[in-house]
Amino acid sequence: MTTSNFDGIPSLGTASDTVNLANSLPDVSQLEKLANELFSALPCDGTGTGVGLLSSAASNVFNEQLSGIDKALIPGTSPNHFGVPGEAELQKLFAPRSASVGSFPSSKLATSHPDDALSALHAPQQSVDKSLFTGINTQGFDLPGEAELKKLLAEKSISPAMKGHAIVPNAKADAPAVSDFYFLNESTSLNRSAPVSARDFAHPAFNVSAVRRDFPILNERVNGHQLVWFDNAATTQKPQAVIDRVSYFYEHENSNIHRAAHELAARSTDAYEKARNTVARFLNASSADEIVFVRGTTEGINLVAKSWGKQNISEGDEIVISWLEHHANIVPWQQLCSETGAILRVAPVDDSGQVLLNEYQKLLTSKTKLVSFTQVSNALGTVTPAQQMIEMAHRVGAKVLLDGAQSVSHLRADVQKLDCDWFVFSGHKIFGPTGIGAVYGKPELLEGMPPWQGGGNMIEDVTFEKTVYQPAPARFEAGTGNIADAVGLGAALEYVEHIGIDNIARYEHELLVYAMDKLQNISGLRLIGTAPDKTSVLSFVLAGHSNQDIGVALNKVGIAVRTGHHCAQPILRRFGLESTVRPSLAFYNTHDEIDHLVNTVRRIKNGSAVY
Ligand code: PLP
Repeated sequence: MTTSNFDGIPSLGTASDTVNLANSLPDVSQLEKLANELFSALPCDGTGTGVGLLSSAASNVFNEQLSGIDKALIPGTSPNHFGVPGEAELQKLFAPRSASVGSFPSSKLATSHPDDALSALHAPQQSVDKSLFTGINTQGFDLPGEAELKKLLAEKSISPAMKGHAIVPNAKADAPAVSDFYFLNESTSLNRSAPVSARDFAHPAFNVSAVRRDFPILNERVNGHQLVWFDNAATTQKPQAVIDRVSYFYEHENSNIHRAAHELAARSTDAYEKARNTVARFLNASSADEIVFVRGTTEGINLVAKSWGKQNISEGDEIVISWLEHHANIVPWQQLCSETGAILRVAPVDDSGQVLLNEYQKLLTSKTKLVSFTQVSNALGTVTPAQQMIEMAHRVGAKVLLDGAQSVSHLRADVQKLDCDWFVFSGHKIFGPTGIGAVYGKPELLEGMPPWQGGGNMIEDVTFEKTVYQPAPARFEAGTGNIADAVGLGAALEYVEHIGIDNIARYEHELLVYAMDKLQNISGLRLIGTAPDKTSVLSFVLAGHSNQDIGVALNKVGIAVRTGHHCAQPILRRFGLESTVRPSLAFYNTHDEIDHLVNTVRRIKNGSAVY
């Protein structure tokens, strides 16, 4: 007997119901075929992040039933159970599957620590997955959840390109429509009418334990401790999907792109241009022609300064930046000013590290030709009111470059909504490879911009008398680009799409609030950057201890943070400092890791943790 709890989708019922359900299957071989089809379509293998059939089917039900958990569970988790509908059924369901999954580890659930609760939920599912992977292909089908599976398979069209491999080169470029599975939220719970792809089943819900398994480096041990990667603002770690994608490129596709009649040139060109499409989709650009591949944010800003800047900025013109800027968004404009006689103006910030909009407004005049500022400060974590600042700049006729180096992995980047004229970011800050990034530019601007470097690829025709350039974006991609890493960047963005940037933002925000609260309670610790709108970055100094010593002491217990000026000296000096300790978060970080950081900082303060 099955019961219907929501949207007409049958629930897993009780354990005994499930046995009946299994016994009453009309056609086991058909179902097994369908099951194998789903398995082969899963984006990860059975030992990694791929979720077994049962947990896919079951977890959708599970997700539905858990949709209130992140609110209900976290503040007041009871010692022995979640108290959510379906919990008892799930306990019974998982209990007979293997000895290792006898029950929810209730001791874990006794904590109010959200990670623990989610990990505890995930643990039995993982054990079930493994047992099912072997069982499914060799035996009949005695799983709970077959009915759900059948229904799911009927509803989901699995593209042939999605089958059989974790990494799907040349897979359809469509963004996975449903990233909702990652987070437990009623507004994003399973939407039966939305188109979904097989990749949507990679994780049952946003579960930090599950996403961590995608990042092999997080298993590293440093000085006898599990690595805690809190240096995400400097660079992020790479999921297996990205590592595999780059390897796949070199194993099966490697060739220079364009202009060749052979198969591998076609493959590499397809892969490279598909990555450009992915970047365009990720930024919500209206066309892939608006995306130029560059080495990273620094090169992107230099491209605009050396190309558009040289063409459009002259003596007496003004360029406005903010006090928050990374050196990469200061130096190219200083260079341009010294070459042209233009003037650099700087919008100040308040004591929390937020841009003072009234002061910014005063700087905007008819002389302002360009505004260039960061969407998120790398030193403080401030999220600037980018849309408003862009609008204000446009009112005086200025163009706007938005530095997305620190925002792109934390906030939704929608260049059309923001209405920025250029948006630049680095792949390595968003789980992609180093040495690759992108510039988005409005098409009318890119078309009018002269090339900034000359060479192969960017030309239409060359004689000794003159050169005719390609249109954008090729015009700005002189020479052989970083083809493999562009492809890797595409994979990274697909990975983020799969999790869902809004889900990431929400989880990270919760983590940030948790961390700020704990750090603030350490006497002598001063947080630098306390704007109400901030993300990811937890800069601080601790009275009586040098930042370098703190970094060394943290490293001794496996915690990687950056100490120093973070290539943002002006903003640190604004706070009377030459450097800070800067832990910075990503969605694979956990509350446990924050606790470890806070405890170690406390021990440093008390003298019980040595450098
Ligand atoms: N802009 C900001 C805000 C940054 O945080 C960084 C790097 O940390 C950059 C620009 C430069 O990025 P990249 O070194 O990847 O070119």
